[in-house]
Amino acid sequence: MMSTAITVFASPQSGTENKKDDFKYFTEQFADSKILRYQVPGFENLSLQQKKLVYYLSQAALCGRDITYDQNFKSNLLIRTTLEAIYRNFTGDRNSADYKNFVIYLKRVWFCNGIHHHYSTDKFLPEFSQDYFAVIVNQTKPEALPLAKGQSKEQFLAELTPLLFNPDVAPKRVNLDPESDLVLTSASNFYAGVNQKEAEEFYSAMKKDAKKNKKDTLISFGLNSKLVKENGRIIEKTYKIGGLYTGAIEQIVMWLEKAQTVTETPEQNDAVKKLIAYYRSGDLVTWDEYNIAWVKDLNSLVDFVNGFIEVYGDPMAMKGSWESIVNFKDVEGSKRTEILSRNAQYFEDISPVAPEFKKDKVKGISAKVITVAQLGGECDPTTPIGINLPNANWIRKEYGSKSVTIDNITNAYDQAAKGNGFLQEFAFSKEEIERAGEYGHLAGNLTTDLHECLGHGSGQLNKGVGADALKNYHSTIEEARADLFALYFIKDPVLEKFGLVPNDEVGKAEYDSFIRNGLMTQLVRIQPGKTIEESHMRDRALIARWVFEKGKDDKIIEQVTRDGKTYFVINNYKALREKFGELLKIVQRITSEGDYNAAKELVEAYAVQVDPVLHKEVLARYEKLNIAPYTGFINPEYTLVKNGETITDVKINYPDDFTTQMLKYSKNFSFLPVR
Ligand code: ZN
Repeated sequence: MMSTAITVFASPQSGTENKKDDFKYFTEQFADSKILRYQVPGFENLSLQQKKLVYYLSQAALCGRDITYDQNFKSNLLIRTTLEAIYRNFTGDRNSADYKNFVIYLKRVWFCNGIHHHYSTDKFLPEFSQDYFAVIVNQTKPEALPLAKGQSKEQFLAELTPLLFNPDVAPKRVNLDPESDLVLTSASNFYAGVNQKEAEEFYSAMKKDAKKNKKDTLISFGLNSKLVKENGRIIEKTYKIGGLYTGAIEQIVMWLEKAQTVTETPEQNDAVKKLIAYYRSGDLVTWDEYNIAWVKDLNSLVDFVNGFIEVYGDPMAMKGSWESIVNFKDVEGSKRTEILSRNAQYFEDISPVAPEFKKDKVKGISAKVITVAQLGGECDPTTPIGINLPNANWIRKEYGSKSVTIDNITNAYDQAAKGNGFLQEFAFSKEEIERAGEYGHLAGNLTTDLHECLGHGSGQLNKGVGADALKNYHSTIEEARADLFALYFIKDPVLEKFGLVPNDEVGKAEYDSFIRNGLMTQLVRIQPGKTIEESHMRDRALIARWVFEKGKDDKIIEQVTRDGKTYFVINNYKALREKFGELLKIVQRITSEGDYNAAKELVEAYAVQVDPVLHKEVLARYEKLNIAPYTGFINPEYTLVKNGETITDVKINYPDDFTTQMLKYSKNFSFLPVR
């Protein structure tokens, strides 16, 4: 059973003051995206063995890059390879508007791991013309282009042009519109030749069969495969050595085997061993065994995520996208999360959720603050700022989960956002701005901690309710549940008692920012005329609009116009907290009972539609600030220092050019066929 969507993404602002730092975070901006670097403080203090472990796991993380492209859309690798070939061989005018737009398009493809926007999942179109595309393809020597066997350049152009330019070809990567066939209308590459009904029937038969034959019924059915129809038969093509993506997986395994020689604890060694076995067999029982071993590894400083994990990319929420994150524990920062996880049962007991939906025993939620050393696959270049894994509900219940807050990434966000004018534009009062400046960073991180290490782990499903009961509404409801848990407790006086916050201004700062974002500023990520699609955005809209509407009579939140600009002002923080509690109770009931209709009603009523007038205003105000709403990251690079054959050290350096890194990755880490 999958419980997906266990990540938090940063809001578009994140602009709070922090300590002075000369490191250059911001490198460039294009389209709606900016590129930052992140620091890896503490890497130099790791032992040689730990550094080697980071190095090997980082290489494994990079080897899966092309899997992400291919999973996102079947022609992504072909397109990327073509664009890179043109870029590398280009001899024409680099200052022409067409060429500049070509480069922006290529950067966007790298940024999104394909031709669909990483967040909205809509296909984005080039801003150069088809004619110009023909010119630059024709200028490129044929042996540099990924032509099919015997294919002429004309045929090649005829193949590529609609993929890039026709808005009706593969228009959306993940379509969640319940009125349409989710499988057929989504461009992501998890199904071929099958429709939604066939896919549903295939997996329900598989589950029934497992039950009948007394096989493991708890595995995450379909997680690591593509479902295809061949010669009229529907079969799974499993991602494994010897199966689909074998070229990349062999490399991943090769590096994992090296990593296994330098693991820190027997538990970690066991986890890596099981992960390798899983990549060899593709067996989802082994995948679960790996996850259990991974959850048990609590004493290693270096840790990692590597596998087919989150299911946002699949409209049916079954297929895992490949991702990797290599990290090590921030021991000082983790003191905060340790207090929370130690008191997990306490929070569960006093939460406003109905008693029958609470966990009697909250097990093994381990939470830590981490420093990321490498992002890979779906987490690169855009990354979550918090993660809670594994996703399988039964493992979380029996063995617990690991929850992390990624401090060096949020720090990079905050550093880069200093003085960008965002708060000054959208916050109503000086008081709000000052509160954000003083407490915003702590409030953001603490909310992420609460969301990840308590929110997702809280509550339980009724007997017989599958984690997939809410289908296309699952991710939104699950994220809302975790957010509401965090919002309810961020303003609980108990946090002060635990020494986690200095006063209740921290909770207020979070409420200011959440309401501002959910009601207004997150709209900067939506194009005019579009609705809200992404699960985390839907979750935030749902919560903010629900509490706004339910608190209208008491003016808990007030919509104010000043000098023609809209603001949302919180008049009563205490009453707002009660509203968050009320909604948490509702959302937990929906989750526990698997009440699809109630989920649908709530999401469709509050989370999807956009007020066109407010939207237009927000976009206009935001445009003046010239801030890109999305952020991607350049990874550091690691180099082995050797004395003969002996590794004596691992050096870290911080490259500052996105294009150079992307080209380097494509050159060194392409292990899959382009066609
Ligand atoms: Zn989450």
